[in-house]
Amino acid sequence: MHCPFCGDEDTRVIDSRLVAEGGEVRRRRACQRCGERFTTYERAALVMPHVVKSNGAREPFNEEKLRAGMLRALEKRPVGAEEIENAIGHITHVLRSTGEREVPSRTVGEAVMEELRAMDAVAYVRFASVYRDFQDIRDFSEEVRRLRPEND
Ligand SMILES: [Zn+2]
Repeated sequence: MHCPFCGDEDTRVIDSRLVAEGGEVRRRRACQRCGERFTTYERAALVMPHVVKSNGAREPFNEEKLRAGMLRALEKRPVGAEEIENAIGHITHVLRSTGEREVPSRTVGEAVMEELRAMDAVAYVRFASVYRDFQDIRDFSEEVRRLRPEND
């Protein structure tokens, strides 16, 4: 990385060690030009990204909101609480592992639809019909037709 003191592109790692119980790498670096030394820390970026809505507004990821939306779609459907929590856990894991600072709300919506599709066809259609901008009614009936009847 560039030297934070003089901006030179050529810095050298002079020491590297694991810290924070192996969750971080601490590196001492020296600038080849100005001779300054500095420390960098490297860790996996597992912060929950912010969600960017279609109007450009940015908001922190809200797990309660996600849960509420899924529960609304799953109302009176034969899906257990544990299965729902597993799906939410899976969605948050996927979002966290992107390593991105922000994700479009569309990504979250698609992840929810994927989970619902696997859990319950009716809930999936409910959510998709509210969430997705179906171009016309034919798109919607194609979605419905693609669903396997045994999930109904
Ligand atoms: Zn320098």
